[in-house]
Amino acid sequence: MELRDKQQHYRDQVREFAVQEIEPLARQIDDTGEYPRELFDKLSDFGLFGIQAPVEYGGQGLDTVSYAIAVEEASRVCGSTGIMVAAHNSLGIMPFILFGNSQQKEQYIPPLASGKNGLGSFGLTEPGAGSDAGATKTVAVREDSEWVINGNKCFITNAGMCQVLVITAKTEKIPGSRGISSFIVDRGTPGFVVGKKEDKMGLRGSDTRELAFENMRLPQEKMLGNEGEGFKQFMIILDGGRISIGAMALGLAQGAFDYALEHVKTSSFLGKPKTNYQSYQWKIADMYTKIQAARHLIWHSARLEDAHQKIVLESAMAKLYASEIATECVRMAMQIVGQRGYLEETPLERMYRDVRLCEVGEGTSEIQRIVISRNLFKSK
Ligand SMILES: Cc1cc2nc3c(=O)[nH]c(=O)nc-3n(C[C@H](O)[C@H](O)[C@H](O)COP(=O)(O)OP(=O)(O)OC[C@H]3O[C@@H](n4cnc5c(N)ncnc54)[C@H](O)[C@@H]3O)c2cc1C
Repeated sequence: MELRDKQQHYRDQVREFAVQEIEPLARQIDDTGEYPRELFDKLSDFGLFGIQAPVEYGGQGLDTVSYAIAVEEASRVCGSTGIMVAAHNSLGIMPFILFGNSQQKEQYIPPLASGKNGLGSFGLTEPGAGSDAGATKTVAVREDSEWVINGNKCFITNAGMCQVLVITAKTEKIPGSRGISSFIVDRGTPGFVVGKKEDKMGLRGSDTRELAFENMRLPQEKMLGNEGEGFKQFMIILDGGRISIGAMALGLAQGAFDYALEHVKTSSFLGKPKTNYQSYQWKIADMYTKIQAARHLIWHSARLEDAHQKIVLESAMAKLYASEIATECVRMAMQIVGQRGYLEETPLERMYRDVRLCEVGEGTSEIQRIVISRNLFKSK
């Protein structure tokens, strides 16, 4: 699948940046669970916090294909960086780009696109509302000219380092997914409590937290879009988010593949190069074929998005396939490398832990299958 010259050039630049700046710190980030400030600033200077934000708001103004490339290349060397960039761009800034009024765009997009004062987050999931995100229990009650918000969110990426986030809350007491609205919450708003960082199996350098809203008061101007449109908005945001989690999975698969390929090309077994053995040949061939197929699905969805076409079906297929083959490819890479792949000195054991998120976050594999089949049953 061909890239345009500009996209290919961007891919080369991000690859070089990721290999030179991110990769050397990937193990430290995983070990300590801390994201180094100097590296964070370098990501900001490179423009990774405003990839698709319009140029007039201080962003890079790049297309979705370039965005997918950036997430893939970052994830190829460091999953924690990949998810941080993906969540910030797809979930943190995109709601402002798509649903903000001009005042909200002017106020929030430029600082988010720079990232210097912190990132953006998206608070949708609750303890009892994961896959069934419409079951949100967080409530917003109107009192005079303000909204009083109470409730909890969980597993919110970048929450500890966010300057602002968008949350969903029920503004009308009607059953199901109707009556949900979106609100902008600035860090430091009284009643907004950020919980402790979760101790995760993988993506340990990515900041994931619980949030609580305790009689948090917001003026009407903090509502994003129209009242009652929250569910529709997050469905649109998650369609785009699937491209980025797919791209993250793809990067992890490619990183594991590159490591395994190098191993096979430079090692021997029973006095013969490993490349001579069918067992290695087949694994390498299978991995490469699946990775390329996933890349086709992801870039295809990204191109449809850039052409302003519907991507519900395509992005669900891309996310489902990329996540599942990535899990398989990382496992196969460890199998090829053998015992050394089990050690912390290789990136494979980290990738093995990091990749599991891809089949859970932003819609589990089961939910993607539901989305895909529903679309097929609907069509003639
Ligand atoms: C590291 C990490 C980062 C995250 N970041 C964010 C974030 O930034 N913002 C945010 O809002 N959320 C975030 N999430 C939450 C994530 O989107 C949810 O975990 C996800 O939606 C699944 O919800 P759940 O974990 O509650 O699983 P559940 O919904 O409880 O599902 C449990 C199992 O049941 C299956 N299942 C559920 N419903 C059905 C069904 N109808 N048919 C068949 N099977 C079904 C699921 O596929 C899954 O296997 C994050 C999660 C993680 C782990």
